Amino acid sequence: MAEYYGNFIGGNYVTPRRASWFDSVNPANREECLGMFVDSGRQEVAEAVDSIVSAAPQWAGTSGTERAAILQMALVALAERKEELARVMTREQGKPLQESLNEIGKSISEAQFMLGEGYRLNGYTTMSEKPGTWAQTVRVPVGPVAAITPWNFPVLTPMRKLMPALITGNTAVLKPSEYTPLTGLKLVEILNSRGLPKGVLNAVTGGRSTGEALVKHHAIKAITFTGSTAAGRSIYKLAAERLVRVQAEMGGKNPAVVWDPPSMQEAVKHIVSAAFLCSGQRCTAISRVIVRKADTAEIEQAFAAALSELRPGNGLENGVTLGPLTNEAQLSKVSGFVQRAVQEGARLVLGGEPLKEGEFAKGFFFPATLLADVTGEMEIAREEVFGPVLIVQAVETFEEALAMANNVEYGLTAAIFTKDLSVAGRFVDGIQAGMVHVNHGTAPESHMPFGGVKASGVGPGSVGPTTKDFFTDIKSVYLKHS
Ligand code: NAD
Repeated sequence: MAEYYGNFIGGNYVTPRRASWFDSVNPANREECLGMFVDSGRQEVAEAVDSIVSAAPQWAGTSGTERAAILQMALVALAERKEELARVMTREQGKPLQESLNEIGKSISEAQFMLGEGYRLNGYTTMSEKPGTWAQTVRVPVGPVAAITPWNFPVLTPMRKLMPALITGNTAVLKPSEYTPLTGLKLVEILNSRGLPKGVLNAVTGGRSTGEALVKHHAIKAITFTGSTAAGRSIYKLAAERLVRVQAEMGGKNPAVVWDPPSMQEAVKHIVSAAFLCSGQRCTAISRVIVRKADTAEIEQAFAAALSELRPGNGLENGVTLGPLTNEAQLSKVSGFVQRAVQEGARLVLGGEPLKEGEFAKGFFFPATLLADVTGEMEIAREEVFGPVLIVQAVETFEEALAMANNVEYGLTAAIFTKDLSVAGRFVDGIQAGMVHVNHGTAPESHMPFGGVKASGVGPGSVGPTTKDFFTDIKSVYLKHS
């Protein structure tokens, strides 16, 4: 019998009297149901928001350093229950257990930086135009926050939103993805388990309409969203009607340019890891490799060899390095992209079809896939696939490589592998991306701004010092003392 989970409100699971329910299944075995969850409507959302509104004055009135101490205890609880949460994540999202553990570890290290912000919520003091007057700025919490998150990083992404929202004095409601509701609820339950005042952090489950109800709720003053560009656009429009600010982190079509690298072997290793972790379902996944025409054969061979070593399977099994895709829609979406690429003239080097034999038939498995002879006009070169698919694009000059790298609507992250300093410099200056890596995959660090430009991001980057600009307002104070 599946377990039924209410929303997490005011420190407890709360089941509405008349709820509609949806399920969450294991993508490695669709017969395994992880639980039944409330498809929250306006009323359930209002209950969660009322609760964070009530908790807001006391939390905003707690000093930043005291909030840091309370949240530190929440992190201790998260570290202690890391194994348990990682197993839930792998069963619900699909990624190999070690990746789930790493994700929680990364969330904790980003949060450690963020809790230090409790000591750094500073404004500035400047000269006044008037004598006997101090002119200064102070930061105040923006107001109750809604955090809406996707399924690919069901702990890291919520943590990237909740920790900065809370440390800056806001209360928050999380709406996790409808594909990973259990991981989201468990995370919020754990964070609430060590002294966080009740109602400071709640969670409601549901899909798009639940997210919309949150965005439209009059008491929500800021929306931090991660997900598809289409949903981000829709949220931005709705929020604009209420003049409410939005931080949106969206899709990517991230290039890696390989141009006389210091070591081809190292470049391939970095790119494979950046492209295939989480089965390629990362906004920062490298999905395009741009190379010199003369190097294509060597690079194709190196990638084909590295990809053949990835082992698909259930993420709870030892040795598995490529989990399933997270849901059936993803499986058909990724297959469709590959089929159309081949119809448009791309050459399939490896993979390409869903895995159906034996145990694979139970889940949503797609193999590591490599496509070559891809031109800039093809759909596969422009649209986000969000799966274990890498394409190789060949050009003659570095200028063409840079133009090709920029010729997409997205601008999240990018990498170049080269030993030529001038090529590296021109790439860093010319690439339209929020993050850029030289001789390194696209893994970001825990204290650096994270975000994109163009259709990949709006609002200050999350992670690192920029994120407090989203979660606080600046108040200018003129204090005439004599
Ligand atoms: P999605 O946009 O379908 O859903 C994301 C979240 O938004 C879910 O919780 C969903 O219920 C909610 N939602 C959807 N439409 C909404 C609407 N109109 N109003 C309010 N809420 C709405 O995205 P997904 O399929 O869960 O995730 C995949 C996408 O997320 C990819 O495009 C990926 O690139 C992007 N992503 C971006 C980043 C980043 O940091 N840039 C990180 C992870 C994922």
